Amino acid sequence: MMSTYAWIGLGNMGGPMTANIVAAGHEVRGFDLSEQACAEAAKGGVQIVSSVIEAIEGADVVFTMLPKGAHVRSVYEGEQGIWAHATNQMLLIDSSTVDIETSRYIHEGSAQRGLSFVDAPVSGGISGAASGTLAFMLGGAEELMERATNYIAPMSGRTIVAGAASMGIAAKICNNMMLFIDLMASAEGSQLAHQLGLDPEVFWEIASVSSGRSWAQQTWYPVPDIIDTAAANNNFAATFRTDLARKDVGLALDAGQSTGVRLPAATLAAEHFDELISQGLGDKDCSLIVKNITPDGTVRGWNPEQGN
Ligand code: NAD
Repeated sequence: MMSTYAWIGLGNMGGPMTANIVAAGHEVRGFDLSEQACAEAAKGGVQIVSSVIEAIEGADVVFTMLPKGAHVRSVYEGEQGIWAHATNQMLLIDSSTVDIETSRYIHEGSAQRGLSFVDAPVSGGISGAASGTLAFMLGGAEELMERATNYIAPMSGRTIVAGAASMGIAAKICNNMMLFIDLMASAEGSQLAHQLGLDPEVFWEIASVSSGRSWAQQTWYPVPDIIDTAAANNNFAATFRTDLARKDVGLALDAGQSTGVRLPAATLAAEHFDELISQGLGDKDCSLIVKNITPDGTVRGWNPEQGN
């Protein structure tokens, strides 16, 4: 059945996600502050509107795909916001990666107004968004999950109910923290192997069939000319920006503080990213953290003089 989607935030993720919804035969009314993002999304068949209010009027489902918690709050709050204009017929879904506090705040604020809200962050990156194979992790009331899963279907390879309110975000934050800790393991392993005289490709093959294997090692291994998907092949042009990686690790550290869990490895990952950011490299790929650990600060695949 055809549905009407309202979509707020048509950036790197929202753009290709909405194109897949249109391709599945639904109507999408999109809003973004960036003209360029709107122009790109229009090419994918999104009907561009000029306000949140216009986007959500008569919609079946309202998605937000915005950078951070503060953006999500600002789109929900206020006279021009979602809370003031949504009806209890609509399902509200936030797919942004936000902090736990923001997620709880949006759940509570929606419930107080009699509105239905689900947190549904994603994993799979820009390529997963384009191919419609993102993993979605859902948090909220059980009776909303089937409906949410149906609206998500055109964008998703796998949708998993994580649990009650904010459990989707909790899963996303823990998952990404594990990813960046694994990335440090690949950075240190690859450089030590090199200094000990191992052939880089041979060592990567050994790790791939041994206990050093991980998603980061398989997909982001920070050495050039071994795997196709490595940013190291392309002078560390971002596949996942360092400043966004820092944001995600920061969400885990905040959650660690509020729960009392000690996170020394995640703390170290944050320090690695901060070091790159302080050198003006926040827009480079997060796997460039290898640069922080080599004996002389040079790294195979990284030429600071060369643009991308
Ligand atoms: P992005 O910066 O490319 O897009 C966000 C869009 O939101 C921008 O176009 C911006 O103009 C728009 N925006 C900001 N404030 C707005 C407002 N008040 N009203 C309307 N539009 C507004 O970011 P992205 O890469 O699309 O990521 C979106 C979210 O998804 C983030 O939380 C990110 O952490 C998460 N995420 C990203 C990836 C990835 O690989 N890029 C993967 C998984 C999750």
